[in-house]
Amino acid sequence: MSLDLLAIAAHPDDVEQTCGGTLIKMAEKGYRTGVLDLTAGDMGTRGTPEKRLEESIEAAKIMLVGCRDNLHFPDARLENTISARMTLALKIRELRPRVVILPHWQGRHPDHYRAAKLGYEACFLAGLKKLDEYSEPHRPYKIIYSSIYANVTPSFVVDISAQFERRMAALLSYRSQYGGGTEGGDLFPEEREVRERLGAIARFYGNLVGTKYGEPFVVKETMLVEDVVAMGGRSI
Ligand SMILES: [Zn+2]
Repeated sequence: MSLDLLAIAAHPDDVEQTCGGTLIKMAEKGYRTGVLDLTAGDMGTRGTPEKRLEESIEAAKIMLVGCRDNLHFPDARLENTISARMTLALKIRELRPRVVILPHWQGRHPDHYRAAKLGYEACFLAGLKKLDEYSEPHRPYKIIYSSIYANVTPSFVVDISAQFERRMAALLSYRSQYGGGTEGGDLFPEEREVRERLGAIARFYGNLVGTKYGEPFVVKETMLVEDVVAMGGRSI
């Protein structure tokens, strides 16, 4: 398999909240997209890992994602071990993405910032010829960090105005998390609150680039521009 874009995230339902609009938009452009979740969310208060996996497959269909897999690393105690890096690196060699989306390295949840580092190092390892004799080396060309939950200025914002509703539908397919049940008490936001919160965040980032809804990303390297006349994002 050779993907154009692969989003790697700590938990099922992370990409639906952070970069799902971009995944949908790229699939609509004809790119081959995929999602790789590192854990199955087995420490979550609501639902079961089996249920969440089922819901994540449903969400993937809504996001027009070609493939979604789960590495079943331990939830809430994700560690950047050599064994985790190797497992992820071999998966990257199998999926061969040109571009990888990782969570931003500043995050409240330890799994999120650990996934950023683990993902980066696995992308590097995946390119080493001698890593594994049974698979071909592959190093992603570009790594972009989804920065929606990091209080940093994005390097760029993707306009997801036309994809926002589909992304919301994908998120709401996690009925065990956002279904309005009583299990877990008041800890979990209900559908209306989730809509308002995600809508406000997407509006904020859209506003930075003059669109209705947006998703922010950070890159570590300087952006290369070929055509300054065609650049988007109004200055004044
Ligand atoms: Zn998460």
